[in-house]
Amino acid sequence: MAQHSNQHQVKAKKHLGQHFLNDESVAQKIADTLSLKGYKNVLEIGPGMGVLTKYLLKKDITTYVIEIDTESVEYLKANYLNLAPRIIEKDFLKYDLNEVFKGEPLAIIGNYPYNISSQIVFKALEMRHQIPEFSGMFQKEVAQRICSKEGSKVYGILSVLTQAFYDAEYLFTVPPNVFNPPPKVDSGVLRLRRKENFTLPCDEKLFFKVVKMAFQQRRKTIRNSLKTLNLSDNLKANSIFGKRPEQLSVAEFVALTQLIEADI
Ligand code: SAH
Repeated sequence: MAQHSNQHQVKAKKHLGQHFLNDESVAQKIADTLSLKGYKNVLEIGPGMGVLTKYLLKKDITTYVIEIDTESVEYLKANYLNLAPRIIEKDFLKYDLNEVFKGEPLAIIGNYPYNISSQIVFKALEMRHQIPEFSGMFQKEVAQRICSKEGSKVYGILSVLTQAFYDAEYLFTVPPNVFNPPPKVDSGVLRLRRKENFTLPCDEKLFFKVVKMAFQQRRKTIRNSLKTLNLSDNLKANSIFGKRPEQLSVAEFVALTQLIEADI
């Protein structure tokens, strides 16, 4: 479908995190991470010249793309004529997706711009009610962090908040030499599938706050990090307050939030 003669290749811009994938089999494998269950729309973030997009367009699903770079958008319009009405030329982090999706469910996919990858995940988490599936490529270390369990060195805010709502799978590693220009780091592809029941049995806002506060000082005990919440001595005597955040599972963070809720 792509006719690469229609326009010159896009020149990679560093400040937009542009590293174009030039391995078709990796692109196909990323597109194939989608289960296509529970949604009719997929949104690709940062399509660039469409290496992944063209495999999405072959699937029985409606593909939208959101791209901040005008030069890439021009390239896509020239090479993927059918896609043109579903190209959103915006900054994913600032755009209200419901201007297009109007509350309908969608999957999110991409070979993401690594400079804003955590922010992309946080925004997707905020929209979790609408996003049954999320997959794609990150910096390997970020993909590992999102999927890691308690006790791991890289376990952190992203791991807990993501796994509270999604089952996270690290799928495979991609080396730098399949990109142009090559990034300095390995990449990792993951898939998140929303849990059947993704409503937490605690105050969700408080849960986010507690997790963030706890990991702000990851070497300190929960008791220490949550000082400013002015919790009762009785509550703080609970053994969970003597632990460090990286020792707590998602379920324990939920339990901790429930305890705090009952105390304040
Ligand atoms: N998916 C393509 C390009 C990956 S590079 C490929 O695999 O080859 C990351 C892409 O994200 C670039 O095209 C860049 O312009 C785009 N991008 C960067 N920041 C963005 C933002 N805030 N919103 C939407 N797209 C963004």
